[in-house]
Amino acid sequence: MESIRITEVSPRDGLQNQSVSLSTENKLALIRLLVAAGLQRVEITSFVSPEAVPQMADAADLLTRVHQLFPQLQSTVLVPNLRGLERACLAGAREISVVLAATDTMNRKNIKQGLVDATRISQDTVRAAKAMGMRTRAYLAVAFDCPFEGATPLPVLLALAQQMQAAHVDEIVIADTIGSASPGRVRDCLRVLGQAIPMDQMAMHFHDTRGLAAANAWAALEAGVRRFDASAGGLGGCPFAPGAAGNLATEDMVLMAEGSGFQTNIDIGRLCDVIEFAQLKLNSPLGGRSYKWLALQKLKADLSPRVQP
Ligand code: MG
Repeated sequence: MESIRITEVSPRDGLQNQSVSLSTENKLALIRLLVAAGLQRVEITSFVSPEAVPQMADAADLLTRVHQLFPQLQSTVLVPNLRGLERACLAGAREISVVLAATDTMNRKNIKQGLVDATRISQDTVRAAKAMGMRTRAYLAVAFDCPFEGATPLPVLLALAQQMQAAHVDEIVIADTIGSASPGRVRDCLRVLGQAIPMDQMAMHFHDTRGLAAANAWAALEAGVRRFDASAGGLGGCPFAPGAAGNLATEDMVLMAEGSGFQTNIDIGRLCDVIEFAQLKLNSPLGGRSYKWLALQKLKADLSPRVQP
């Protein structure tokens, strides 16, 4: 059976915009449950400025402890620039991601740099990380639509992917930051990018804002992509889409992929434990489209030994 690779992003992407800040102990508990559910790759944290994102202020301590507790786990962390890379390196990071938005305005809002400078910063950071022996990923944010500039032209996206490829990045992550993609646009995007980037160097990061994340993931699967970001319970929103449903839920991705003949090695029952824990600690309801049904199945299975003779 063919496998797909899921990078679980809940500890980073999921937690960074929450009003409730989880303690390092609770983040470790969340990661422990993710590992128990079979997740082999987890985006742990972000080495951004603690003043800008206080939820990630414990990045170095958290990463060190994750490596001690879960030596087999493939950890990945986000770094905004060379300064963040330096901190990540000191904390023992093995893989880093940079984020490059595809439009000028989005980069200015995010990092106060235009597209040209943002591209150079991302390239420099990737080159430096490679020189330190790290694996690298480059997120191309607002790959489909930008909340400020509208639709991202495919030639622009292709050029940015090629510029990151020129810096020898290991993986390009196409991010539908505001959750506006559709399966047809995913197909068109991958047809264009596929001319320059091999499908095994490509990953997708979808948001479920309009309920199409799983459909978009299916379109990417059909186009040959096998690497996906997902977040348990859909944890994580987009600051530009208040009330948005968040990231592609890991449980929806697993259910869709396993039901279509792909292997994930993820125990969906144990994934429900992750979601229950996160709901409790964040005091807010979570769950992808399949979660209510999954939770009911789990409840039935949990009760059955007691009700049956
Ligand atoms: Mg996200």
